[in-house]
Amino acid sequence: MFLKVHGVKLHGKKRLSIKSPIENALNPSCVYFPLEDGLIKYKKILEVGTRVLMGQPILYREDRYAHPVCSSVSGTVSDIKKMLDCNGKIVEMLEITNDGKDEPYYSTSINTELTRDEIINKVKNAGVVGLGGAGFPTYVKYLPKQKANLIIINAAECEPYITCDFVSILENAKKLIRGLKYIMKANGAKKGCIAVKKAKVEAVALLNEELKDEPNISIYLLKDKYPVGWEKHVVERVTKKTYAQLPREIGVVVNNVQTAIAVCEAVEENKPLIEKVITISGEGIKQPKNLRIKIGTKFSALLEKCGGYIENLDEAYVIAGGPLSGKSMPNDDFVISSSINNVVVLLKSETVITLNCIGCGKCADICPVKLTPTLIKKAYEKNKLSTLEALNTTKCVRCGLCSYICPSRVDVSETVGLAKDLLLVAKEVKKTEKK
Ligand code: SF4
Ligand code: SF4
Repeated sequence: MFLKVHGVKLHGKKRLSIKSPIENALNPSCVYFPLEDGLIKYKKILEVGTRVLMGQPILYREDRYAHPVCSSVSGTVSDIKKMLDCNGKIVEMLEITNDGKDEPYYSTSINTELTRDEIINKVKNAGVVGLGGAGFPTYVKYLPKQKANLIIINAAECEPYITCDFVSILENAKKLIRGLKYIMKANGAKKGCIAVKKAKVEAVALLNEELKDEPNISIYLLKDKYPVGWEKHVVERVTKKTYAQLPREIGVVVNNVQTAIAVCEAVEENKPLIEKVITISGEGIKQPKNLRIKIGTKFSALLEKCGGYIENLDEAYVIAGGPLSGKSMPNDDFVISSSINNVVVLLKSETVITLNCIGCGKCADICPVKLTPTLIKKAYEKNKLSTLEALNTTKCVRCGLCSYICPSRVDVSETVGLAKDLLLVAKEVKKTEKK
């Protein structure tokens, strides 16, 4: 069945940073890399005290999605510390002290004539993961032998404050298109498409210009509604086809803007995933900006670049990932991973007091995957795993719409997210016990 998503027109705050060109914030004193991320564990390659070069592998994901994680600076592996990650959890992280020299581990020789397998290997060895928020290893999407029909670049940027992909298009359109062509080659796809919101007029005009001699790459104009950037929604809009689990089922591969740029850099320059562009915004920030950062930088180290917090800021909410789908942080000393595109500082006065659920049903009406968030919340609070399963909790796409629409401001999406995590962990435990 074709999915109908009505979506919501959000009161966007993109104007706070949309005119901000990308500024470099590439010299943190230290960077940090988690040894675990939820259920994913990483093996340490270098010991404390070892010299490390920029782009050198330091950790290795060892499960079936194996790939390296590379140091974003040159310097010394200085410690293993407990640090706050952008999921709000304290985890052990490898600390690299930056020597400020950016001495590279990789050679920057340009090579554009590669085979499919060579492209996939380069993307894997560069540690490229999805930069749209999921963090899924990019090369894994390209592994199926069966050719894809279409590659879609998702440039929707749904969260209300985020503008980093928009400015990345404006400043790196050529690299984005070359990246898309490498992805097409890696997947044997003849067609490519960039799905971007109609409202991003400048980006659409630039892409139209850059693509005028590219008959195999089209632009699809999306409506300015939330959550049009949800992968399933984008694929269905562009192809008029639906799928059950993964877009590959209908011959489609989806990557986001910065992932395609990272693929281009990995293929042409052997550059590992060590930097990304993020939007730091919100009414609590003096100068909201789009910053190119070293992955593993602490958020607190980037604040100065944005002029710090506004004067007389007593209480605020720091949200990693954006107000709809992000996580509220206990403090601002957390580490920015590759999956974070947006950190928003909201004034307490911008948020509202939570009241009790009035049973209006709006959260269920708006849910794009037709869940009943209130029932899931009840089942979660009573720890009823079988009910959570029966309610299809794992289908939640963490869009945050149920909380956004709620007249009582119940943070129901947070609870549904926790319930989904609970089920996923329970499933993994079952699998391990069976082995
Ligand atoms: S956060 Fe989950 S439950 Fe809430 S609207 Fe989005 S998909 Fe539905
Ligand atoms: S939208 Fe809010 S008040 Fe309405 S049923 Fe859902 S949780 Fe309750």
